[in-house]
Amino acid sequence: MGMWASLDAMWEMPAEKRIFGAVLLFSWTVYLWETFLAQRQRRIYKTTTHVPLELGQIMDSETFEKSRLYQLDKSTFSFWSGLYSEIEGTNKKQGCKNEEVLAVLGHELGHWKLGHTVKNIIISQMNSFLCFFLFAVLIGRKELFSAFGFYNSQPTLIGLLIIFQFIFSPYNEVLSFCLTVLSRRFEFQADAFAKKLGKAKDLYSALIKLNKDNLGFPVSDWLFSMWHYSHPPLLERLQALESSKQD
Ligand SMILES: [Zn+2]
Repeated sequence: MGMWASLDAMWEMPAEKRIFGAVLLFSWTVYLWETFLAQRQRRIYKTTTHVPLELGQIMDSETFEKSRLYQLDKSTFSFWSGLYSEIEGTNKKQGCKNEEVLAVLGHELGHWKLGHTVKNIIISQMNSFLCFFLFAVLIGRKELFSAFGFYNSQPTLIGLLIIFQFIFSPYNEVLSFCLTVLSRRFEFQADAFAKKLGKAKDLYSALIKLNKDNLGFPVSDWLFSMWHYSHPPLLERLQALESSKQD
């Protein structure tokens, strides 16, 4: 009785629950499939204790044994870590209440309404234009090639690599820092937008839950966080929301 009854119950669920269920089901199916494959490979690691004859010349038995044990260890570890992240993922997907999801959506709508998406696209277009313009100017400079050992030829592909990866690297560092600063500003603005929609309280609790689910560490060195974090630290976001949380 059980199975048919629960299948019937599933079809009567509202669409969003069925979609959610299907996503979870697929995720677990992939997990089980991967586990099944990993177990098959694991059996090979366990049973193949001697170097195959064809490889006798190229691999000594000591290296073979080391590699075998290493792979066995790795497969044990990845089984448990995979199981952990699958269960964690299932719980996480069920973590937020509807109002909190709505508050996060309010934040995302803020990004859109305040033109953050468009601004980011314009910046990245301008950046591409600038980079290719400089590339066109620099590709003819022979000294760039000889600096990396290409004295007699200037292959374009190598030029691409040298200019984009090495010559532009100081510029890329500065640019990425500026973008990080800008991104943090945008996050505060989007939070403020959600607050204006009256979602301060729900966003407040959603941010805490999301941080908990992601195992975000709440304290950070100011210089490290200024350089690396595209999102403001949790405490700063909560403080900014707090001022009008009551309404
Ligand atoms: Zn955001």
